[in-house]
Amino acid sequence: MTPDEFRDAGHALIDWIADYREHLNEMPVRAQVSPGDVRNQFPATAPQDTVAFDALLQQLDQRVVPGLTHMQHPMHFGWFPSNASLASVLGDIASSGIGSLGISWESCPALTEVEEVTCDWLRQLTGLSDAWHGSIHDTASSAMVVMALVARERASDFCKLRGGLQATPSALTVYTTEQAHSSVAKAVQLAGFGDANLRMVDCDPVHRSMDPAALAEAIDSDIRNGLQPALVVTSSGSTGITAFDPIDDIATVTEARGVWLHVDAAMAGSAMLLSECRHLWHGVERADSVAWNPHKWFGTVLDCALCYVRDTETLVRVLSTNPSYLQSGADGQVTQYRDWGIPLGRRFRALKLWFHLSLDGIEAIQSRLRRDLDNARWLAETVSAHPDWELVAPLTLQTVCVRHLGDHAGAPLSGDALDSHTLDWVRRINDSGQAFLSPATLDGRWFVRVSVGVERTEREHVEALWTLMQASVQDA
Ligand SMILES: *Cc1c(COP(=O)(O)O)cnc(C)c1O
Repeated sequence: MTPDEFRDAGHALIDWIADYREHLNEMPVRAQVSPGDVRNQFPATAPQDTVAFDALLQQLDQRVVPGLTHMQHPMHFGWFPSNASLASVLGDIASSGIGSLGISWESCPALTEVEEVTCDWLRQLTGLSDAWHGSIHDTASSAMVVMALVARERASDFCKLRGGLQATPSALTVYTTEQAHSSVAKAVQLAGFGDANLRMVDCDPVHRSMDPAALAEAIDSDIRNGLQPALVVTSSGSTGITAFDPIDDIATVTEARGVWLHVDAAMAGSAMLLSECRHLWHGVERADSVAWNPHKWFGTVLDCALCYVRDTETLVRVLSTNPSYLQSGADGQVTQYRDWGIPLGRRFRALKLWFHLSLDGIEAIQSRLRRDLDNARWLAETVSAHPDWELVAPLTLQTVCVRHLGDHAGAPLSGDALDSHTLDWVRRINDSGQAFLSPATLDGRWFVRVSVGVERTEREHVEALWTLMQASVQDA
């Protein structure tokens, strides 16, 4: 494709995207396809002849659009908001168009330095001190793996330089809670700690936040048994019910015992743009690493996960290799982000953060977040005022955790009957395509998470959802 052909096709594609965004609220929120439906639209072998761009766009409409669950739909209340602001989409397109290769500072000085600048902007905007240095990862899960590796190496006095984990004299242990995201358990497995060395620390029964005394007891008991505590992972906004662990008290425990403290704020980091929410991660300055996803509620299109550390020297010591073909005269004066994570090649992701902040503006982003907090509060109050509904967890940010208690005759349900009632009414809503919600379990029982925060979700949509929820429990 020549630049001139790209110009024509590109304009048509931008029109297509704008039309898609304008009209997606007319489509069912969840894809209404069965497994294989999308694949079967495609020939089994790659096309032999080229396709004209307008024909390709038609195929995009026919083959792909029916298989989309519309994350940007104002009636999407599932999982978490995965906002993709159009301003950030432009930055992503610019990044793809430039086609740079970030393997070293030299390979694209702008890529490195704009990343430094935008990470620092977001550091300031979330109220972190200048002791922190950030980089952009693809996802919070990857950042979690990297931090597990760093904690492993620090606790084992850099076992990678000797016989590795296989030669360490005592097993290394990790601590988190049942509320933590599945990426924590995955990182613990991948970094070689093993499930048997992952401790689930007790939580307080209402807010589900880690009990610091129980943490201290678990760590000390492991030390007495000859084990080597390496890492504590706290959640600032857990996935199920948005629980916040008390970082300040936990840091007192980890500092005294020399254990790496990671803060997983993947979802709720966005809230730290609002000064009134920052008490929720009080003590964060005492952690060793903190990660959050601008690609969630904040609205920078996937993939964009920020990870900050204070001790970059340890980070680089764990992750650097420095082969001859990547050495340059700038070494020592510049940041080599390949030494801050796993991949060598790096996309120019900072462009989408820059575009997003510049075009949408920080104040507009902050007021959108406040709008969502307000809408969630309205729904939580409405639900708890209704005798047949309950909130299963206190509202901390924008995810309202609900359960309908009665069957259609108004009799309260419990146990398995309540579980199947819950899964029934949420399935009816999701099948209808009118809204999308994702159920989850707490203490082994199903409830429904209403995650408010899609860029286009206004109060009227939350009100429409509440009407839909009430109707759906009647249809049982
Ligand atoms: C979404 C989420 C993750 C995982 O984020 P990815 O970027 O998809 O890997 C981890 N932890 C929490 C608390 C999350 O909400």
